[in-house]
Amino acid sequence: MKFAFGDRTDVGRGRPENEDSHLVDPDDGLYAVADGMGGHRAGEVASATAIDALKSAYLGGQRIDQAVVAANAAVFARAAEDASLRGMGTTLTAIALHDSTAELGHVGDSRAYLMRDGAVTQVTEDHSLVEQLVREGRLSPEEAQNHPQRAIITRALGVDADVAVDTYRLDLKPGDRLMICSDGLTNMLSDDTIAQTLRRHADPQQAADTLVDMANQAGGDDNITVILLDALSDGGEGAAAEPLAEEAPEPPAVVNEVEEPPPVRSGRGLRSLLLWGLPILAVIGLAVGAVGWYARRTYYVGLSGDRVTLFKGVPGGLLGWEPTIDHQTDLTGADLTEADRADLESGHRFANRSDATEFLDRLQQAREALAASTTTTTTTIVAPAPESSPPTEPTR
Ligand code: MG
Repeated sequence: MKFAFGDRTDVGRGRPENEDSHLVDPDDGLYAVADGMGGHRAGEVASATAIDALKSAYLGGQRIDQAVVAANAAVFARAAEDASLRGMGTTLTAIALHDSTAELGHVGDSRAYLMRDGAVTQVTEDHSLVEQLVREGRLSPEEAQNHPQRAIITRALGVDADVAVDTYRLDLKPGDRLMICSDGLTNMLSDDTIAQTLRRHADPQQAADTLVDMANQAGGDDNITVILLDALSDGGEGAAAEPLAEEAPEPPAVVNEVEEPPPVRSGRGLRSLLLWGLPILAVIGLAVGAVGWYARRTYYVGLSGDRVTLFKGVPGGLLGWEPTIDHQTDLTGADLTEADRADLESGHRFANRSDATEFLDRLQQAREALAASTTTTTTTIVAPAPESSPPTEPTR
């Protein structure tokens, strides 16, 4: 099967440099997009290193997924040997063509799309935080589209010595159009807009140019890279030139998708900004759990009306966990010293119930002692105050 291609990369309008790299190698049937990340040109080095290593591994006879693993090793080694490149990483989405079969290797949030009979389907799955939240049902696809944390990716090359590579195999038909692109395109244009543009322009180079121009018109926040591949009929003509129906949804021709990738590794990978997403989620989960546990397990003594009351919870409540009354005493504000009253007005906290009831007992004793001392003020001897008795003068 023959293919026609179009490609374009552009710095966009929001970045000083283009850290995307891409490969168009029709002779070997190898095409790839890499979106590098890392400060001070490190992203550029990461994406270029990945593309070079991918190509030499693939031409050396390795399968596309093995070639992506080799690209990871190359970026990882490069980052390890140069302190200024530490923490760099890159996405990589690669297509290897074998007659009418396309094999894809994919890591990160660059994407591959397939247009067949006018219907455009995303082939790859983003390794990004928002995509994960969508899969878990915690974010709608609409919310994900403009989510501020879109750029956080959960898998990239160069971050760890090992990487899990998603692979896909597509059996192509004449007229099929494949696109691989960096997120500088997909964050600027909706899937509908991309699909319309792909349908409108039969010439792959014209379609690629138009997509990049449109992403720039939409703001061009990031570097933009697009590669289009058209599967031609035997006559050599791209069927994409035919006017295509708006609605022709057909299931994607994903023949073989790898099983659920293993979870993101921790350890050395954590040093990279790229993998912030999962640890942040884990920390938030732990924090919410801890707050709930704390809010439900702790006690405080405060005033309910004028009654000294033992509450379960935290004064004022905590993130939706409201305090509840455990029990009320017959002590009132009038039975307290001024210091105690001030203390209880803001709530005196205890880690457990027995400490709290001990405190209440002491308040009770203090009341009795106060009453006793009042009756003996006419005498010269005042009983020593109980140990917990607060200073008679407010200290605050
Ligand atoms: Mg990008």
